[in-house]
This record gives sequence, C-alpha cells and structure tokens, in this order.
Amino acid sequence: QAKQEGKDSYIVFQSAMHTQAVALLELENDLRRAIERQEFQLYYQPIIDLNTHQIRSFEALVRWFHPERGLVPPSDFIPLAEDTGLIIPMGYGLLREACQQLQQWQQLAPAPLSVCVNIASRQFAHADFVNYLQQILTEIPLPPGSLKLEITEGVIMKRPDLVADKLAQLKDLGVQLSVDDFGTGYSSLSYLQTFPVDTLKVDRSFVMKMGHPDSREIVKTIVTLAHNLGLDVVAEGVETQAQAQLLKAMGCEYAQGYHFARPMEPDAVLSLLGTKDQRSVPHPAL
Ligand code: C2E
Ligand code: MG
Ligand code: MG
Ligand code: MG
Repeated sequence: QAKQEGKDSYIVFQSAMHTQAVALLELENDLRRAIERQEFQLYYQPIIDLNTHQIRSFEALVRWFHPERGLVPPSDFIPLAEDTGLIIPMGYGLLREACQQLQQWQQLAPAPLSVCVNIASRQFAHADFVNYLQQILTEIPLPPGSLKLEITEGVIMKRPDLVADKLAQLKDLGVQLSVDDFGTGYSSLSYLQTFPVDTLKVDRSFVMKMGHPDSREIVKTIVTLAHNLGLDVVAEGVETQAQAQLLKAMGCEYAQGYHFARPMEPDAVLSLLGTKDQRSVPHPAL
C-alpha cells in the first residue's frame, strides 16, 4: 500500500515537472517569436527631483504584450530570457529603442533629460556589450551623461576583475552608472570606492517599510553613504506622501514611485513633457 502511494506521488510529481517543463518551453518559443514580431514595448517611469518636483529622468521598463496571454510582467520572462541567452538580442533592441526615444524627447524638451536602462547580468557580461553600445551611440548621438545604465550589485560582484575594465570603457562612452536595488545584494561596500558608479537606487523594500524606525535608519544610512562618496541617491517605490516627506527630510534628492507616476507609454510621456508646468508631474504636494 505504502509503496503504491509512493509510486503514485512520484508519477504526480513527474507529471507536474513535465507540465512545468512544457510550459517553460512554450514560453521560450513565445519569447523567440516575440523578439521577431517586436511584441515588447518600453514604458517609462519618471524620476523626480524631490526639491523642485521636476522630472529629472525616466526609467525604461520593458512590457511584453503577448497575443494570447496579454501583458506579461518582466519578472515572468526576464529570468528565462537570461537563461536562454535571448536577453542578448532583446536587450540590444531595447537599448537602441530607449536611446532613440531619449533623442526625440531631448529635441522637444530643452532642459537636460536622461533615460535609465536596466541591464541584465548576462547582457552586461556579453563580450560585445561595449562595442554594441558604442555603435548605438554613434548612430544616435546623445549628450554625455544622458544615458544611464542600471546594474545590480550582483552583476558587479560576479566578476569584479572583468567589471572594472568594462565600467571604465562605459564611462569613456559618456554613460552613467546606477546601482539598482541597492542594499539587497552583497554586504561588501568596497566596490563603491573601486568602481566608477554615479548613483545608488535604494531598494523599494526599504522605502516600503520606512514607517518602521529600522528601515528608516537603513535608508538614512544609504543616503548618507552615497553623499559621502559623492553619489546621487534615488529612492525606489515611493508610494505615499509620508515616504516622500521623510526622504526629502533625509536629504534624498530623487525619488521614483506610484506616488508620483506609474510607468507609462511614450505618448503619455510626451503629453507630460508638453504640459504648461513643464516637466513636473501633477501629483499631490510633497
Ligand atoms: P527595477 O529595475 O528595480 O524596476 C523597478 C520596478 O518597480 C518596476 O517593476 C516598477 O514598475 C516598479 N515600481 C515603480 N514604482 C513602484 C511603486 O511605487 N510601487 C511598486 N510596488 N512598484 C513600483 P517592473 O516594471 O515590473 O520591473 C521589474 C524588474 O524587471 C525591474 O526592477 C528590472 O529588474 C527588470 N526589468 C524591467 N525592465 C527591464 C529591461 O528592459 N531590461 C532588463 N534587463 N530588466 C528589466
Ligand atoms: Mg531598475
Ligand atoms: Mg530597482
Ligand atoms: Mg527594485
């Protein structure tokens, strides 16, 4: 009896694995097709200067409009795109798209504007990454400093030996560098001294819990650390006015989150940039 049950649950387990494997394969096929058919679109979320309330930058966030499944969030396909290597062609396309978009906006909005593009680990590690970026920037010249790449601590710490060289080459291209999800990765901070990083993005998980003194203290420490090292700080995931006020009081200059604006289509950005109160997001007072 026991043996039979064991056998049954083994079969159940095996068939669940099989279902999962098939689903994954299907998603991989869909992903390949999606790249060919350009089913991806970048949305853009404003990054706000907490003192002037003006838009300083936009983070480009990919959206996949799947013909049958509808909107698939990045967390459901970026990991698979990394595992399969599809992140390389996909990431290149998105990088070019973001640069083109920024160039268009800069022609419309005279004040300096930048765009932040997320770079996956495998994409950053790709041998042709710097060459390709250089090609894009030759084709689409942008003012120095107006393209920012967001990488996580994990990307930096994976191969610190290779990374130093790569980051230096990127800086030579006039690209700025942000450490995304700061505080969630590695405990070592020494890389901040070694590598030419410009900005720290405080992870949403700390901002979310800022009602608690411990999280507030962590955010404050990150803000102070950044400033002492001469870096900018952006707080991610600001959802309430209370959070915005606390951040401002701590001296954090930049914030991003639903309190100000959600990621939006390029057209919505255009109308935002075109409003009379140019380049500031309509939102409840800080
Ligand atoms: P991330 O780079 O840390 O991006 C911030 C995420 O927080 C975005 O989720 C954004 O929509 C969300 N967010 C912004 N404000 C708020 C808020 O106030 N509350 C809450 N709850 N969430 C907020 P999204 O767009 O789903 O992207 C998730 C992650 O997927 C990104 O995290 C990034 O790691 C990755 N990703 C997104 N687009 C790309 C891309 O084009 N390339 C690569 N390689 N990765 C991307
Ligand atoms: Mg990011
Ligand atoms: Mg982030
Ligand atoms: Mg995050």
